[in-house]
Amino acid sequence: MTPSIASHSERGGPVQLFYQPPGAARRPVVDRGQGIYLWDSSGKRYIDASSGPIAANIGHGNLHVIEAAHQQMRKVSYASRAFFENEANALLADAVTELAGPGLERAFFVSGGSEATESAIKLARQFAVSQGQGGRWKVLSRNPSYHGSTLGAMAISGDPVSEAMFGSMAPLAPKVPAPFTYRVPDGHTPESYAHWCADALEDTILREGPQTVLAFFMEPVGGLATGALVAPDGYYRRVREICSRHGVLLVFDEVMSGVGRCGSFLAAHQWPDARPDIVTLAKGLAAGYTPLGAVLASRQIVDAVAQSGGFMHGFTYASNPLSCAIGHAVLQETVRGKLVANAAAMGARLRERLQEVQQGSRVLGDIRGRGLLMAIEIVADRDGKTIFPAETRAIERIVALAMERGLLLYSRRTANGLFGEWLMVAPPLITDAGQIDAIAGLIGDALAAFEKEVPARGP
Ligand code: PLP
Repeated sequence: MTPSIASHSERGGPVQLFYQPPGAARRPVVDRGQGIYLWDSSGKRYIDASSGPIAANIGHGNLHVIEAAHQQMRKVSYASRAFFENEANALLADAVTELAGPGLERAFFVSGGSEATESAIKLARQFAVSQGQGGRWKVLSRNPSYHGSTLGAMAISGDPVSEAMFGSMAPLAPKVPAPFTYRVPDGHTPESYAHWCADALEDTILREGPQTVLAFFMEPVGGLATGALVAPDGYYRRVREICSRHGVLLVFDEVMSGVGRCGSFLAAHQWPDARPDIVTLAKGLAAGYTPLGAVLASRQIVDAVAQSGGFMHGFTYASNPLSCAIGHAVLQETVRGKLVANAAAMGARLRERLQEVQQGSRVLGDIRGRGLLMAIEIVADRDGKTIFPAETRAIERIVALAMERGLLLYSRRTANGLFGEWLMVAPPLITDAGQIDAIAGLIGDALAAFEKEVPARGP
């Protein structure tokens, strides 16, 4: 007999959630998805207002993608790169590099964001070695930041909590401060602080020894680690200049921000004077229809590595036909539906609606992001920008109150709230104006309910 979910539950233990602490609430069982909506097995409907963890970019149940997957599976689902090239891989590589534009003419496909980070690190290293610069191996990044959960990706992620647990197992890379804009040190404006943060990158390169520094990784528009942080424009140019001056490769982690999410195919396109040397993608690339990630790099980088013996790196599922066919269909749908432009337009509308919510809210401190990669920062008081004590579990409560109201908002308290706490508001790129208004309305309702639970601070 095929075991049902109910029969698993009767055993008393969570099924996929075996790692949750004892007593943690069970989650509803998902039943189906269509467009921006998901339904659980009781029939309750939710708006997927963060596209899961910012993955379901084109919404659920897209028939074109389902059909493309079906057709590819009928032809061949898997054939190893060791024996064959495959057409789906070539089509996806052509499409993604065309959309990414000049300077990113080559693509290598993997199964997700962490694999893309690992692959980008190794590509950078092999390129340096091919150029006779084998002394370069240090990978700098920002604090806070997130580049994935494998040990290599963790070593270049700025997260004090995961460092405390796993730091001794991987050589932690030097970090420079992320240019936060909401809280800046006394005497600074967001612009002057961003300038200072870029200077900190140069100081770190000089201190470490420029001939030892391989790459600088950053999320051009932040993910969960910074709550959709967007730096002042001058920061991007300055970072590019510093990397170029010292022969350091600039890697943009666009696992979250890429594939149209920020209102341009790459977030990088919004800062044309800060072109990255390497870009990583995942999440929106296959939009939740299959695990897929990519590393994009210039022809020069990839050719140099190829000529020096080839890329010493790979995964069993790298560039597999099924995932590539799905990714290609997702890109076709992204272009056909003009979803990149829609992300820009709906992002602007979402910001306006959230600003209206903020006017009536005691706890909505900051609204930031680009396109449909937005976040709202939650504070105990807006004047002092103070963070709720951990016991309030503010983010957890707001997520629960939103979920009661049929709204899914992705978040968790990152870095123990050291840098603040926020929720991601990042619905699928197919979201229309009425749906944006509904999302903002439900966020307003959830925040109002939360405010009733927490006493207002005295003057
Ligand atoms: N990089 C960024 C910016 C991310 O947001 C994530 C995941 O959230 C990753 C890398 C890791 O991606 P994955 O979870 O697919 O391994």
